Amino acid sequence: MNYKPVIGLEVHVELKTKSKMFCSCKADYFGEKPNTNTCPVCLGLPGALPVPNKKAIEGCVMIGLALNCKINNFSKFDRKNYFYPDLPKGYQISQYDQPFCTNGYVYLGGETNRHLPSGTKKRIRIRRVHMEEDTAKLIHQGQDSLIDFNRSGVPLVEIVTEPDFESAKEVVEYLKKLQQIVRYLNVSDADMEKGNMRLEPNISLMINDKGLRIKKTLPKYKVEVKNINSFRFAEKAIEYEIKRQTEILSEGKTPVQETRGWDEDKQKTVTQRIKEEAQDYRYFPEPDIPPIRFSDSDIASIECIMPELPDVKMQRFTNIYRLSAYDAEILTRDRKIAEYFDETTVIGFHHEIKRKRIANYIINRKIDINKILPAELIQIIIKDNQKSSLDEDKLSKVIAQILIENQKAVTDYKNGKVQAIGFLIGKVKQHFPKADTRQIKNVLEKSLK
Ligand code: ADP
Ligand code: MG
Ligand code: ZN
Repeated sequence: MNYKPVIGLEVHVELKTKSKMFCSCKADYFGEKPNTNTCPVCLGLPGALPVPNKKAIEGCVMIGLALNCKINNFSKFDRKNYFYPDLPKGYQISQYDQPFCTNGYVYLGGETNRHLPSGTKKRIRIRRVHMEEDTAKLIHQGQDSLIDFNRSGVPLVEIVTEPDFESAKEVVEYLKKLQQIVRYLNVSDADMEKGNMRLEPNISLMINDKGLRIKKTLPKYKVEVKNINSFRFAEKAIEYEIKRQTEILSEGKTPVQETRGWDEDKQKTVTQRIKEEAQDYRYFPEPDIPPIRFSDSDIASIECIMPELPDVKMQRFTNIYRLSAYDAEILTRDRKIAEYFDETTVIGFHHEIKRKRIANYIINRKIDINKILPAELIQIIIKDNQKSSLDEDKLSKVIAQILIENQKAVTDYKNGKVQAIGFLIGKVKQHFPKADTRQIKNVLEKSLK
């Protein structure tokens, strides 16, 4: 039997706001002494009241807009109740049935995509993008578990896709894209190693009914893999799950619905928690925070301050600037490089320097954009141009000598065999290997008249 992977993704992204989600404690907890960035609100002390962080909500909405979501005019926060030491209040403030953003999509596979036929774009549906707060961090030391509340209450955005991925490769492509988008928006560093971005793939397999056109229903089980802290591990965990589940299904059994973790030492996923039924979080509206209303003009004014995003930049660079997809992809990977390129082309325009040439310098000569200003790069290119454009006098002298030594080619050319000039160009190039071919050709043509 042939199976087709069905994969959906839940991604958490920590926002880099100044303060936490519901209090004024510093949000950046990296490298801080444990439990130094806390207050009654993020420690969950009785009576403390949460005040939502406007910047964080704005960041969440920007992510939603970048993922083509509908931004809902009416949203609210809810309490998600569960009992665990990393959650001092006994509930997490999250969003349940009325999140900020719903029903978006992203496309995978532009011109540079290698695992889809060229030109094909795959649409991944985004189910929702919602706002919540991070939990405290548990540190296990032998028999003891320590809790650091510096992370408690840090703004966290959750991005949930529909189960539209069919391979680990697609998942990784999506993750890179998502990381690129939040970095462009400058709402998160999305640094995997620091835990700014955390991934939970859900994986199941269905019978591959290619061509049969029977109605597709999702498998009745799914396996969720938690605590993955690199794209590479996500890829390996998914591939491992596909193999493991295929074996179970091939024996006529159904994989158990459970949460598993990736064990990098053993190179496999291991059981963490078996869900008998869906966990009951007893969600209810957060009574301490009034619902949030966005008018269409509120949404438009957030959209206004968003930068040009990678897909649009990529299109501009290929369709209008006529760069190759390869060059455009490299130049748009990082917003800083893209903006540097744009600035340099504006200056280059006044000196008649082509965009392609500027792209070459940035890509092939690995220009350090933090050290060389756009105007300085243009000066470098101008100097190089002067160096390579030869003194015409010198060139003419050498050409005159070559014409004397190669009478046959000269006669051929004069008798209409114009391709003979190629031979002569070759001869001149032996003397000036770095010279511009067009320049040589011009001078040769003049001399042959
Ligand atoms: P839960 O109730 O466990 O949170 P959801 O239906 O809300 O499950 O989905 C959580 C994630 O799992 C989503 O990203 C969704 O796309 C994905 N998912 C749902 N069903 C499946 C399935 N059969 N196989 C793989 N992923 C799935
Ligand atoms: Mg889940
Ligand atoms: Zn606090």
